[in-house]
Amino acid sequence: MGQQYTPMIQQYLKVKAENKDAFLFFRLGDFYELFFEDALKASQELEITLTSREGGAEEKIPMCGVPHHSAAGYIENLIQKGYKVAICEQTEDPKHAKGVVKREVVQLVTPGTVMDGKGIVAKENNYIAAIANFNNQSYGIAYTDLSTGEGRATVLEGSVDLLLNELATIGAKEVVSCPDEDKDLLDKIKERCQAVISYEENSFMHDEFQKILQKLDAEELQEPVQRLLHYLKKTQKRSLDHLQPFEIYENDQFMKIDFYSKMNLEITEPIRGKDKKGTLLWLLDETSTAMGGRHLRQWLDRPLISKSLIEKRLLLVELFMEHYFERLDLQELLKSVYDLERLAGRVAFGNANARDFIQLKKSLLQVPAIRSLIKGMDHEETNKLAMALDPCEELTDLLERSVAENPPISVKEGGIIKDGYNEKLDQYRDASRNGKNWIATLEKDEREKTGIKSLKVGYNRVFGYYIEVTRANVKFLEEGRYERKQTLTNAERFITPELKEKEALILQADERSIELEYDLFLDLRDQVKQFIPRLQKTAKIISEIDIFQSFAAISEARHYVKPELHFNRELILENGRHPVVEKVMGSQEYVPNDCMMDDEREMLLITGPNMSGKSTYMRQVALTAIMAQIGCFVPASNAKLPIFDQIFTRIGAADDLISGQSTFMVEMLEAKNAITHATQNSLILFDEIGRGTSTYDGMALAQAIIEYIHEQIGAKTLFSTHYHELTGLDKQLSRLKNVHVSAAEHQGKLVFLHKVKDGAADKSYGIHVAELAELPETLIQRAEEILSQLEKSNGKTKTASVSREEVKEPIVSNASNEQLAFFSKPNEPAVSKTEKKVLKEIESLNLLEMNPLQALNVLYSLQKKIRK
Ligand code: ADP
Ligand code: MG
Repeated sequence: MGQQYTPMIQQYLKVKAENKDAFLFFRLGDFYELFFEDALKASQELEITLTSREGGAEEKIPMCGVPHHSAAGYIENLIQKGYKVAICEQTEDPKHAKGVVKREVVQLVTPGTVMDGKGIVAKENNYIAAIANFNNQSYGIAYTDLSTGEGRATVLEGSVDLLLNELATIGAKEVVSCPDEDKDLLDKIKERCQAVISYEENSFMHDEFQKILQKLDAEELQEPVQRLLHYLKKTQKRSLDHLQPFEIYENDQFMKIDFYSKMNLEITEPIRGKDKKGTLLWLLDETSTAMGGRHLRQWLDRPLISKSLIEKRLLLVELFMEHYFERLDLQELLKSVYDLERLAGRVAFGNANARDFIQLKKSLLQVPAIRSLIKGMDHEETNKLAMALDPCEELTDLLERSVAENPPISVKEGGIIKDGYNEKLDQYRDASRNGKNWIATLEKDEREKTGIKSLKVGYNRVFGYYIEVTRANVKFLEEGRYERKQTLTNAERFITPELKEKEALILQADERSIELEYDLFLDLRDQVKQFIPRLQKTAKIISEIDIFQSFAAISEARHYVKPELHFNRELILENGRHPVVEKVMGSQEYVPNDCMMDDEREMLLITGPNMSGKSTYMRQVALTAIMAQIGCFVPASNAKLPIFDQIFTRIGAADDLISGQSTFMVEMLEAKNAITHATQNSLILFDEIGRGTSTYDGMALAQAIIEYIHEQIGAKTLFSTHYHELTGLDKQLSRLKNVHVSAAEHQGKLVFLHKVKDGAADKSYGIHVAELAELPETLIQRAEEILSQLEKSNGKTKTASVSREEVKEPIVSNASNEQLAFFSKPNEPAVSKTEKKVLKEIESLNLLEMNPLQALNVLYSLQKKIRK
């Protein structure tokens, strides 16, 4: 079969065989064409027309294509959908080709390696990771953001969950694995991280990477780093000079929050949808630079556990708060700082243009002012920051001298380099400009000589410079000197030997100067490259400064306090708030709450009606701990916090995105995760655990879990529950205390006070919430009847569960009889005789033998009976 194909198709098939998992964009003249399967799939994905062409074989070959000048958009589109695209260019001039033009893949674009376009969000990193699996016992991970050059690597010892969690935390878009990795594992990675999987053998070593690799002593680190670098080299086929040395980290240096808990707490991503509004990141991000935004996200992904590091950050936030005016000026300056990290990446990668240089220069020009502002704060720590800022003066000088103020995007059409930077270039430009003057003089001379006032000298691409004379005036031209070139409707165009001679000079000068400008640009880019490490360092310091000013601004505006961190078991939050809910609803509305925990109060069992604020209260404690450990002030009037090593959450089944049968299983898995990994220094939030199964089951499990944590772990735990039976546990478990979120009844309706108080609430207010939700009145009445029956059959009845002191106004007596029944004394019959009869009737109906009309009639008569 193969032999039948034309040579070009054979060439295609060969290249395709080496790029099986990518769409092959095969350059044919002005188009990129796709063939066979690729064409079928791409025509659908990109909604472009599918055609076919002869390829030598009997069957026509499916084909579709996109113009090369608009290919970027299509490629971006495919990448966003998680595909890879291999770009295959003609690598020799078709004019000189013998046989089929040579073609080569010049770049493999993948989700983890895109450098620009829609895939790149200013305030987000785009990470690609490589993994190495050592007997399912330990795992090496290395990852980098190609657009910024930062790289990190770590070894994780333990279960595969650690690996999955780390990859999900990083948010890797692409994961490079060895080709014979366990398929199960790769499937899990795909599912958990929504990442594309790529493969890379690890067989040889580029000299280029020797330096990076030598620094890594452990094999567990060497392997993934090597794999990652090889993959990048293979796919990008260009300089990777901007890759920074890999920063080795250990997971134990940070507070651990597993992936689901991060989701539940909405730290950087919302539970539903894509809108960042409502996340902690959204609240905290007042950064002015893209770099600051990205680093803030990294901080949130990895809260610290080192007391001294946290305190250093807190101190800086405090200093930035104290220097209000400096901070305002700083914000202004930062706004003019472009994305230095990504600019450096583009320079190294070879896709920077002259406008990038201008952005680089403008950014660096802000640095001295930023530095002196920070220095002005006059503190040891701020001085350190100021010292670390490097304005790279030689670079700004160079760019100031060389690059024009408003250069074009294209680097091949001139207009980039300033006069006076290069002597040769100045000479060409002189020739070109003088030539143009000369042409202007010639026009004047010719007009005088011929007496034709309308004579003009023009230029077009086909004939070059010409003299144009209207038809009526042609007769005034001297014979023999003017050679006719073109005839228009009303005019004729001529050339003279003089004109052509000057033209040659001018055009040559223009052409040469454009060529020279391009060379100078490339040379400039190489010079800028030398500054990349210094640029990256400065970028990092600027992003930190940006975060500190952001934290300071928010802490001041929202009245946060500096938390005091310590190693004992005390947790004190006075007037604590849920930072995000408070921001959304406004601080007038929000009811602050205290949270006090210590050796005697290790677990809080939280009861209270639905919608009273149990979940909000629990989350606020976790978010406050996270804010403190990234070095931000916290929403409270006084805060003393222990340093938590881990946070675990299990948030109410009904409130989350996982639905259906597996809910309870997920709930149990998360409970297991917390119970197996939590230590005394962890924080556990269990929100209505056990809700996903039957009452007794759920209650039994909830109790067992509470006991286990109390006896075996001793982690600080907030446990909300709707099982009021559990509130008796405080008698057996000494470190468990009841708290409740209070509510009051007012005119037979429920009023939420959102105030957390000691002691247990003793009744669920479900029915009242249903009432607030405006379920049909008859249904509400019925539910109340059933409730009182149940209470009777349990042999215990409860009066209105809120303590009277919380009721702002007395329960009024004009409430309807039915409502009174609900609050009535134990022995009053809750169900009337008629109602009982009606119930009996309903029970005896044979619905299968009735048509809808009959059913309606019966319903009508029943209703009449109760209504009377
Ligand atoms: P629960 O978990 O008890 O059902 P939630 O914590 O989900 O209740 O809170 C329900 C609603 O009550 C929240 O959406 C919020 O609008 C409001 N809320 C919660 N806590 C407070 C508070 N402290 N102050 C004001 N409103 C609150
Ligand atoms: Mg809740």
